[in-house]
Amino acid sequence: MINLDNFPSFFIANWKLNGNFAFLKDYFTKLKSGSKNAIVICTPDIYLNFQEKKSENIFCGAQDVSKFDEGAYTGETSANMLVDVGIDFCLVGHSERRQYFNEKNKDILLKSEKLIEQNIIPVICIGESLQERKKNITNEIISQQLEECIPSISNCHNTLIAYEPLWAIGTGLTPTLEEIDEVHKLIRNFESKFNNFKILYGGSVKSSNASNIVNLENVNGCLIGGSSLKIEEFNKIIE
Ligand code: PEP
Repeated sequence: MINLDNFPSFFIANWKLNGNFAFLKDYFTKLKSGSKNAIVICTPDIYLNFQEKKSENIFCGAQDVSKFDEGAYTGETSANMLVDVGIDFCLVGHSERRQYFNEKNKDILLKSEKLIEQNIIPVICIGESLQERKKNITNEIISQQLEECIPSISNCHNTLIAYEPLWAIGTGLTPTLEEIDEVHKLIRNFESKFNNFKILYGGSVKSSNASNIVNLENVNGCLIGGSSLKIEEFNKIIE
């Protein structure tokens, strides 16, 4: 398993359902690898084995994993299979999985356990909806997700947490820096075991806001969707 303490910050690109071979080739030709931070590129599964290992700080990540190990589950990819193709990180519980594929906290817990057992680092996504924020129940929602999604075997060496407010994903809207810091602080102080976790922020990160967000005391990196698809923009963010 990767030693998470080796990296000051984490920048995770989530390509979602985008890309093709030509795009992949061009992306890795242009991707800048100079920083000390960990850069994780989460392509669609079919391209995972074709990512170029450009440098020691660039890793390959999957966007999801099956909660099953093997059997009659058409279309699924197991954690063992991800190990077979050298995957180090895997997103779990992304809001699009929750929204379009009906994933529940209990599925996210199970998937995260499977990954940790295989020495793959789950990047467990949590976050509130706009309605929940307006109702002032963000803290309750985050607390419930922490309780129900994070496995008991998780620790700061084998798990990353990503705070992704649903209303900020792909919308161009972002919480204020104070709001981001407040939720990250809540996560960090939720239980003593979370004190040393690396906690990433995700939701409409771009080159113009990335450094302010990453410089917040309780933020250890970013999960980036739309902006990670434009390699020039992504290079600016990781610089
Ligand atoms: C994401 O897909 O996790 C994400 C944060 O998307 P975007 O950066 O486009 O908001």
